[in-house]
Amino acid sequence: MQLSPLSKIILDTREFLVKRDDLIDPYLAGNKYRKLYTLLQTPKELYHTIISYGGTQSNAMLAIAAMCRQKGWNFIYYSKPLSRQQRENTLGNFATALALGMTHHEIEHELYRDFIASLRLNLDEKIFILDQGGAVTEAKEGLEVLADELREQLREHKDIQSLATPSGTGTTAYFLALALPEYRIYTTPSVGDVSYLKEQMLALGKLPKNLHILESKKKYHFAKPYPEFYEMYQKLKSGGIEFDLLYAPLMWQTLLEQTDERILYIHSGGVSGNASMLPRYKNIDKGILK
Ligand SMILES: *Cc1c(COP(=O)(O)O)cnc(C)c1O
Repeated sequence: MQLSPLSKIILDTREFLVKRDDLIDPYLAGNKYRKLYTLLQTPKELYHTIISYGGTQSNAMLAIAAMCRQKGWNFIYYSKPLSRQQRENTLGNFATALALGMTHHEIEHELYRDFIASLRLNLDEKIFILDQGGAVTEAKEGLEVLADELREQLREHKDIQSLATPSGTGTTAYFLALALPEYRIYTTPSVGDVSYLKEQMLALGKLPKNLHILESKKKYHFAKPYPEFYEMYQKLKSGGIEFDLLYAPLMWQTLLEQTDERILYIHSGGVSGNASMLPRYKNIDKGILK
């Protein structure tokens, strides 16, 4: 594959570089492509089925569905029961993943935890289980490949010593910081607070010294629509690049507020999820957000 390109974007008179991992593929892009890299390199014959679980708007779910389609693997995905609105939504990641061949099963709330824990019992060796949000230890290799690309591309941009990427589980930021010790890596928690993010990262190993977790002043709940996120999304879009509505706006907001050096932002993908998020912003001007 060719390297994903770098673009420039100007925000509040500051110029940023953006690593365009969003352009890798419509569905299998951003950090999910990087995290699935090892599995993507695996010979097809090794598995016949991939099993995963989690939310039905998940970008990881869609990326796994696209990978399985490419590989000819079955993809079984478990979630808690869907709301009627989710079931009927014909736009967004869930509908697309189903169209790509994903088999979906709903598990009752009371049974969910035990059910997920039991997935690893009696496992066929041709079945691979991916934990929620995508591979964890398997993500390391793909992020090393990203690190090599960045090192190469940044040779022409010696003024850049800081990179940024938003966190959910923190897997991406963690392995990126590990693979690029000569750069400062900024991230911000989108799910939970800084201590929760650190806890997740500590499960992967010692925290790299070059990893800087920035915390926004205001508390945000994951996947809720906030007017300032929508504004940031539009500002970025008029700067020429579409970003996701769940992770990117907060990372950008924090960078603008809390940093002042030249920064390269690694686009983490997720634009496909906007189809189901944007309608939730439709009433934004009327002040009715659900
Ligand atoms: C999954 C995702 C993240 C979070 O990645 P982690 O490795 O879980 O921290 C960030 N941005 C987008 C767009 C994502 O889809």
